[in-house]
Amino acid sequence: MRGQVLPEAALVCNFPRGLMEHREVQTFFHEFGHLVHDILGGDQEWVEFSGVATEWDFVEAPSQMLEEWVWDAEVLASFATDESGTPIPADLVARMREADAFGRALLVRMQLGHARVSYHLHMDRPADIAAASDHWYEVSSPVGKLEGTHSYAAFGHLTEYGSCYYTYQWSLVIARDLLTGFAGLMDPASATRYRREILEPGGRRDAADLVEAFLGRPFTVDAYREFLGEPSS
Ligand SMILES: [Zn+2]
Repeated sequence: MRGQVLPEAALVCNFPRGLMEHREVQTFFHEFGHLVHDILGGDQEWVEFSGVATEWDFVEAPSQMLEEWVWDAEVLASFATDESGTPIPADLVARMREADAFGRALLVRMQLGHARVSYHLHMDRPADIAAASDHWYEVSSPVGKLEGTHSYAAFGHLTEYGSCYYTYQWSLVIARDLLTGFAGLMDPASATRYRREILEPGGRRDAADLVEAFLGRPFTVDAYREFLGEPSS
């Protein structure tokens, strides 16, 4: 599922009517992350640097960071209810977090497979796309492919992101580190600083400099490593 930011700053998504699944709310927050980045970063002297016109290594960081808010019981309790209006219970959110962390490293291996396929199909331009794709998935993940399938044919980002699918994982490295700069998910001072240092500059400064200004240090992979090995309790 993907959203598209329009010049009028509307977010167009293919969500169902009525209640939404948690995964859909997560997607909504992700796309909303792009939207606020585009709006708040939109006031630049040069349109080239306006809004989400940052490096592609970074463009998925604000959106993936905002996903964290749908895994917080306190945040969810403020708006997420069932049909009777009862907020989602905190212990259910805790169990959902546990389930989400289960097999996370395996999911990342699959994402690295996508990133390799995206990179190598564009760089190597192999004659046999199917064989090349199979190879890069095989060396990335222990999960074997289903015979007779051609996953690259349904890999939408293969054309939209070109060889840069890796940005999802690299941006996630940055997104996890950005979260360490928040005193709390609903802390107004942290949010204001994030807005000033990360979102409002748009593409006016290098993303690494924006992140360093917000964190007070260059970003590292430590938070991402921790995220991969998050204990299931
Ligand atoms: Zn995105």
